[in-house]
Amino acid sequence: MHPTWIEIDLKQFKRNLMVIKNALGKARFCLPIKANAYGHGLIDIAKAAEPIVDYLAVAHLSEAVRLRNASVKIPILVLGAIHEEQIPDLLRYELEFTISSAYKADLVAQKCAALQKRCRVHIEVDTGMQRTGMRPETAAALFESLRHNRHFDVVGIYSHLASAESADDPVALKQIKIFGDLVRNAPFADAKLLCHLANSSGTLNLPTAYFDMVRPALAAFGYIPSTVNPAFHELAPCFSLKAKVSYFKVVEKGQGISYGHSYIASKRSRIVTIPLGYGDGFRRDLSNSGSVLIRGSRFPIVGTICMDQFMVDVGESSVFVGDEVVLIGRQETLEIRVQEIAKLCNTIPYEILCLLNDRIPRIYLG
Ligand SMILES: *Cc1c(COP(=O)(O)O)cnc(C)c1O
Repeated sequence: MHPTWIEIDLKQFKRNLMVIKNALGKARFCLPIKANAYGHGLIDIAKAAEPIVDYLAVAHLSEAVRLRNASVKIPILVLGAIHEEQIPDLLRYELEFTISSAYKADLVAQKCAALQKRCRVHIEVDTGMQRTGMRPETAAALFESLRHNRHFDVVGIYSHLASAESADDPVALKQIKIFGDLVRNAPFADAKLLCHLANSSGTLNLPTAYFDMVRPALAAFGYIPSTVNPAFHELAPCFSLKAKVSYFKVVEKGQGISYGHSYIASKRSRIVTIPLGYGDGFRRDLSNSGSVLIRGSRFPIVGTICMDQFMVDVGESSVFVGDEVVLIGRQETLEIRVQEIAKLCNTIPYEILCLLNDRIPRIYLG
């Protein structure tokens, strides 16, 4: 009923998961689905992935609670640094969570003792991102204290790559070495922890970053950050953004279009209106720079993008109210890729995907 929608091709999504899974060897597969599963829809993506992956990961407790309330049963790791008042719910919803400092470990220990509960945690070490995580030098001492505390089950140890764009990325190689040296030595070596480091770039480019588990998300949604191993060439996007033309008018030469008249028609032209705007998370940077597909042709966005709609110049073409418009995805022989839009907005595909918000319904196919 809504005139704009996002189509998710679940068959392609599951195919992507299998492509990755088949390339992992013994390593397990943790799928990060934070930020509404990169805009693909948290719950439906979790349900589709649950039979295939070993773990799900989210940034925040609230995301994990939504998953548990939707009866998602597999392990869920909360990646973000936790806050004291969240501890009871982290325990109640049987979530695995991150310990990234001795201070946080103490808070958790006190709460677990008070509640008479045991928690499952992963220690996060910082090997070069300078975001969260303890220094590798201090991780061993913390682990020793946690493994002797009856309230803790230390399940894993992990870190995050700051850069892994190629197989010889020096930043990644250094992080892999720091992490490997840490987990291959005492007290971690014989502790049977799940050691995990690789995001999508690491998974695509650096098998030495796999350890016991990988955490690729962007690749699972079908976006390949850089040229890679042919095993991954079957990965393909499963996300399309579509709308229906809501209005049609003819604009005369010299007439300005939309707020501020940043576009002036250079000749008499047919202008159609698309009922989507920055209020849906469709970036205003695409004003006078983006394009859309209608009836198998590409047409330019003209004038500034408004909160709820924007205009497209279809020239002499016959386009009708109700025609299907593709903003991201394929139509006949043409395609608008998220990467193209990201470039026009001077950002990365991640941001384009997760900004598209809940005003746009998601439709799941397959
Ligand atoms: C988001 C995230 C990932 C996934 O990153 P991609 O580049 O999308 O694969 C992996 N690990 C952590 C800690 C993350 O926050």
